[in-house]
Amino acid sequence: MPLVAVENLTFGYTAHPVLTDVSLTVDSGEYVGMIGPNGSGKSTLLQLILGLHTPDEGTVRLFGQPAREFVDRERVGYVAQDVTENTKEMPITVEEVVLMGRFPRAGFGRITDTDRDQARKALETVGIDDLADRRITTLSGGQRQRAYIARVLAGEADLLVLDEPTVGVDAESVAAFFDLLGELNEAGLTVLLVEHDIGAVLEYTDRVLCLNRTIYFDGPPAEFADSDVLERAYGASIHRGSEVTLS
Ligand code: ADP
Repeated sequence: MPLVAVENLTFGYTAHPVLTDVSLTVDSGEYVGMIGPNGSGKSTLLQLILGLHTPDEGTVRLFGQPAREFVDRERVGYVAQDVTENTKEMPITVEEVVLMGRFPRAGFGRITDTDRDQARKALETVGIDDLADRRITTLSGGQRQRAYIARVLAGEADLLVLDEPTVGVDAESVAAFFDLLGELNEAGLTVLLVEHDIGAVLEYTDRVLCLNRTIYFDGPPAEFADSDVLERAYGASIHRGSEVTLS
């Protein structure tokens, strides 16, 4: 059973569809990078996969269940775009953020030593255990992303969904960040991310999904690089040199 199964999905916020006839599956163990121009529907597709919108047509299934009705929320970890915004005013420590990942398993208010151990282990895995007692607001963008991934790991999720995880991460930390995702994937975590840096997706992920209202490409990075998909899917934005980054 695929972890994610999208079939003939059409969706719009208004009468004008943002996504048209999108079909894809993500199997356990995959490492998938989704790219596409600004406004091409990437975040919307992730939100549909997470069950946050109702499809106009077609179906979205998570672990075999309709995404809207999916109840095993802890199996899916979501790291939203710009996590910084969410924690701007929160006077909480890194460890507390990570412990939140245990809430669905532990039950609110009943955090045990086992939960604390899991949180510590998750922090070690992402390499920021030394920052456990720091306020989350004092971390750099890259460190904060790691904290949020640790929260997902502490929750023992099977699927990690990330929306533009490297926004706000300094250039030197981007490679290390993708290496970490690669290691987590090797250890069994299924990863689905949206990323504006096409070069990073081609270099680090195993499968490229190129979206612009519908799927333009779905396959291995090497095939993507040899194709004319970039030109077709991004059209004029390449020539304007806008958000396309091929490093
Ligand atoms: P991407 O993530 O590829 O940049 P989005 O999924 O954010 O694209 O947006 C796709 C389209 O849907 C854009 O035209 C955007 O303006 C529109 N859109 C996104 N979110 C909403 C919303 N909540 N309400 C109305 N329109 C939206």
